[in-house]
Amino acid sequence: MRCPRCDGGDSRVLDTRTGVGAIPHAVKRRRQCLVCGFRFSTLEVPVREEITVRKRDGSVEEFDRQKIVASLQCALKKGNRRRDEVDSLAEKVVGLLLAAKPVQLTSEEIGKEVMRCLQGYDPLAYARFLSVHKSFVNLEEFQKTLSTHGDAF
Ligand SMILES: [Zn+2]
Repeated sequence: MRCPRCDGGDSRVLDTRTGVGAIPHAVKRRRQCLVCGFRFSTLEVPVREEITVRKRDGSVEEFDRQKIVASLQCALKKGNRRRDEVDSLAEKVVGLLLAAKPVQLTSEEIGKEVMRCLQGYDPLAYARFLSVHKSFVNLEEFQKTLSTHGDAF
């Protein structure tokens, strides 16, 4: 698990807890980066194996909650968000995605759900996410966001 502050690859586990909120099989670990000393938490959640994700190139992979956390972190990294805020936002995204009990999702559906949650949470992070994932994004919507929040760029 890479450090969210310096991207260093080595961390030590300070504390391990099982069962987080409504997810009995989740494992939450408090870590400290060995490079910069930053403390952060990671959350491991078992994925339901029957859910797969079809990517734009046609390949299929297992649904991975960590990828949603990673894209949220990527979008929010300049916003100084606490890790548990990112976790609960990811939880919201996953909850919405899995609410209909899908067997397969597409990477577009996941991206759109991430954007929808980001939009209400942090418009700047939303715009940043759009700029990274604009290939499946409605360009008009992107430009509208930029013109609304353009002063901050
Ligand atoms: Zn670090």
